[in-house]
Amino acid sequence: MVPDIFHKDFAPTPYWWEAYRPVAGDLVEVPRSAAVAIVGGGYAGLSAALELAKHGIDCVVLEAQELGFGASTRNGGAVSGGVNLGKSYSGRTIGVAPERAERILSDASDAFALIDRLIEEEKIACFWEKPGRFVGAWTRKHFESQSRRLAMLNQAAQSGAYMVSHERQREEIASDYYFGGMVVERSGKLHPALYYQGLLDACRRRNVALCAKAAVGALGRSGVGWRVETSRGALTAGEVVIATNGYTGSLTPALRRRVVPVASHIIATEELPPDLARSLIPKGRTLSDTRRVLCYYRLSPDGARMVFGGRARFTQVDATVSAPILYRYMTDRFQQLRGVRLTHAWTGNVAFTLDALPHMGQREGLHFCLGCNGSGVAMMTYLGWQTARKIARAANYACAYDTEDFPDHPLYTGDPWFLPALGTYYRLRDNLDRLLG
Ligand SMILES: Cc1cc2nc3c(=O)[nH]c(=O)nc-3n(C[C@H](O)[C@H](O)[C@H](O)COP(=O)(O)OP(=O)(O)OC[C@H]3O[C@@H](n4cnc5c(N)ncnc54)[C@H](O)[C@@H]3O)c2cc1C
Repeated sequence: MVPDIFHKDFAPTPYWWEAYRPVAGDLVEVPRSAAVAIVGGGYAGLSAALELAKHGIDCVVLEAQELGFGASTRNGGAVSGGVNLGKSYSGRTIGVAPERAERILSDASDAFALIDRLIEEEKIACFWEKPGRFVGAWTRKHFESQSRRLAMLNQAAQSGAYMVSHERQREEIASDYYFGGMVVERSGKLHPALYYQGLLDACRRRNVALCAKAAVGALGRSGVGWRVETSRGALTAGEVVIATNGYTGSLTPALRRRVVPVASHIIATEELPPDLARSLIPKGRTLSDTRRVLCYYRLSPDGARMVFGGRARFTQVDATVSAPILYRYMTDRFQQLRGVRLTHAWTGNVAFTLDALPHMGQREGLHFCLGCNGSGVAMMTYLGWQTARKIARAANYACAYDTEDFPDHPLYTGDPWFLPALGTYYRLRDNLDRLLG
């Protein structure tokens, strides 16, 4: 451990867990049967369960670990309406036909509206605010390519996006680090673990069975439905929803071949002097950038700490490895933070897809919603909701992410052995881009 960046009370767990810590608690018994069994208890699984319950459909959530173990209590809490859609883990934006792009963005905009509505309807106290986002341009060329995307974002997703020049950048961030960037007004932020807890409470109010420590180990056809084997007993279910995102494993090999689990890491600082904290991000927006190996950051809900994330490594590594790297990224942007100590550092998995788009649908008779591609607070909530509405036959239009084409690759079997090398290569490419402008 590098001593001078770690606070004496440093913990290698999410800062958010100070407010809600995933616990197994008193285990809810796994029922013998349910109309719908949902595998995975993150935002997607809970949002699906909540909507099914609203339609009077009895469902069970089966979570392998504690409730909230996955990315849903570990993320940065930045909520977007689609600005990163199509951006792969290489940072490259994968092209889609304009007509499809419009539908994809329009559904992303609906995802933002859904989370806004859900928080209001379920009265979830999670520090939900809509201050907008600033996406810093890593190079001049990136600034130009951001400018070219404005019209589409504003037309299809009502993003309220506009460019901010390098000269005016200090209105957004107390740093000259970027070549200007893009503001996306229709973006928000929340406390991810409190949002998660709010979804849990909403499910409990509707008597959804929420079963922690119930890893699903096998699925088999049983009559017209499914036999679901869990580590705490078996049940029969009419339908099954797979909501395992970056933790998708050998239970569903066909899905595992279609998602690449990539680690993302975050650090949180000690409380900063109030004047310093207030000065860093004057408008309280969330920030990210256009690098291949992107960073994302914001202030904590009480405005006292910097919460700074990025792909310090593409795989799960110890905080002693990820925290010094993120610390350097943070102080590259904010030299005024040199010397502050870190109280928390943690990691979690996101799921990238080969076309950089989220997906829902059915494979081999199983419903699934997967592939947040790094931005899933609103999107995975939405895909869970859409999946439930499809099952309840309440959907009055086909979601743009519900398509047959969920690409795989003949050389990828679900083991992302190549990620460390890829991460190194992308970091080099980022540095080269910066040098070449
Ligand atoms: C560090 C980090 C930062 C992020 N920052 C942001 C951000 O700022 N904004 C944003 O929009 N998104 C962000 N994300 C992404 C966002 O957190 C995810 O997209 C979202 O939480 C995914 O929700 P989910 O329900 O699909 O999956 P998860 O919350 O990951 O839940 C999946 C669950 O499935 C369970 N599971 C797996 N296999 C089984 C099995 N066989 N049986 C039972 N259960 C199983 C796992 O234990 C896990 O709990 C970030 C993610 C990380 C890791």
